[in-house]
Amino acid sequence: MFTSDSQSQKKPVTITLTGAGGQIGYATMFRIAAGEMLGADTPVRLRLLEIPPRGVKAAEGAAMELEDCAFELLESVDIFDDPQQAFEGANIGMLIGAHPRTAGMERADLLEANGAIFSQQGAAISKSAADDIKVVVVGNPANTNALIAASHAPDVPSERFTALTRLDHHRALAQLAAATNTRVSDIKKLAIWGNHSASQYPDVFNARIAGRAARGVLREHGKDEQWISGVFIPKVAKRGAEIIEVRGGSSVASAAHGAISHMRSWILGSGGEPVSMGVLSAGQYGVTEGIISSFPVICDNGCYEIDNSYEIDEFSQKYIDKTVQELLDEKEAVKTLGLLGESL
Ligand code: NDP
Repeated sequence: MFTSDSQSQKKPVTITLTGAGGQIGYATMFRIAAGEMLGADTPVRLRLLEIPPRGVKAAEGAAMELEDCAFELLESVDIFDDPQQAFEGANIGMLIGAHPRTAGMERADLLEANGAIFSQQGAAISKSAADDIKVVVVGNPANTNALIAASHAPDVPSERFTALTRLDHHRALAQLAAATNTRVSDIKKLAIWGNHSASQYPDVFNARIAGRAARGVLREHGKDEQWISGVFIPKVAKRGAEIIEVRGGSSVASAAHGAISHMRSWILGSGGEPVSMGVLSAGQYGVTEGIISSFPVICDNGCYEIDNSYEIDEFSQKYIDKTVQELLDEKEAVKTLGLLGESL
């Protein structure tokens, strides 16, 4: 006999979260357990992956706090230091842990350190995750880390490996709303293109504010093309550095919110509106095939599709070409380091 409670609840979803002992992991897991990612009708099982001994200890501490919250939706919490065990049966992978960029580290060193982590995790996902696995990579350089993971996962469609640019999307929304004295909910069809890095392109030219072209609304507020290129774009692209300077540490809760929003939209839908996600390019909008680039996507029923209704003018094209070139350079660098697998 089912009770009315169990009738209204969906099947439990297994989520593997890496870097669970770190800051963003900590800010993410409590919200997942509270039902903020998958809804109040979906029980969750958390599998936390960390590095021994310190990372694992921190994850153990977080798990104790999760227990103390007595979340009704939280069915279990398990901690692992072995990726293959951690991804066993996972429906969702939130790849947050990454090698930090330390002083004096060259870009190639960072790509190499992370390449080892993400190729191992891609292979583990391929071997042990559930058939419907969906992955978001948060750990930087997120787009290229996602590409490396996808290239080592022969049994998972590469489109299931995505990178986080939703935080950039949210930052752009907030800046545009502040500049035009409107609400974020009034703004539609904003997009982040390219890499989650300072080269990203936050595009307002396709955006609508309360049903009107954003450009016209901006003009009414004394903000022209020069404001877009000289103030808005650098403000969004360099917001992470500004947070570090003011807060004395990198963004945490806003990054966690971005990751939760990314997965929530992918799984529960984006309500017919485009959101930004780093996804594998098949050549859309002239973005070279085979890199993970941010695009506007519409999510529905557990799937996403790149929105093909955006117009790209000369101004936008210049920015998109630059950020795509950076992704191609990163891909070339990891290829040279022998870090790309064969399954792309
Ligand atoms: P954070 O939790 O603060 O950050 C984790 C990753 O998210 C970093 O790569 C960070 O990049 C990235 N990130 C992406 N977007 C943003 C953003 N907008 N703002 C800030 N960060 C962003 O790092 P911690 O050092 O606190 O924790 C990392 C944990 O990961 C550690 O506990 C470590 O042990 C673990 N780890 C686990 C691994 C595994 O499970 N196999 C592998 C490697 C590490 P950036 O560095 O550029 O800020």
